[in-house]
Amino acid sequence: MSKSNSIPAAEGLFTETADGPRLVGSRCATCGSAYFPRAQACHNPECERTDMRDANFGPRGRLASVTIQGYPPPAPVVWSDPYTPYAVGLVDLEDEALRVIGRLRVDDPENIEVGGEVELVLASLGHDDEGRDVISWQFQPV
Ligand SMILES: [Zn+2]
Repeated sequence: MSKSNSIPAAEGLFTETADGPRLVGSRCATCGSAYFPRAQACHNPECERTDMRDANFGPRGRLASVTIQGYPPPAPVVWSDPYTPYAVGLVDLEDEALRVIGRLRVDDPENIEVGGEVELVLASLGHDDEGRDVISWQFQPV
């Protein structure tokens, strides 16, 4: 599958930078609160004035929790039988008060260490009904 034969799972959620992949969110310039995905307004009750700017987040974080996706997720990815369960992690991003959910790229989904360090990658979730790779952010152990 060539790289041109791929589509993002959603627009505006992640980007490729010179330093590697990053999540695209917002940061309030007044209070520093971080948001992913982008937010129109700051939700910090102590913030005096919303001043949202685009911000990139990642790539490192720690696994706060892990679960197994036991049934096929909704479109755009189309699953061929049999469905293979995969791991999904809740990740505390390094240096940010920000928790992000992402699929985990691991060999053994049943054997993942909570608290372990992970890094952001952009990778295929599977194929859509036209055979294109559906690209999204994922996390893999460092
Ligand atoms: Zn704020």
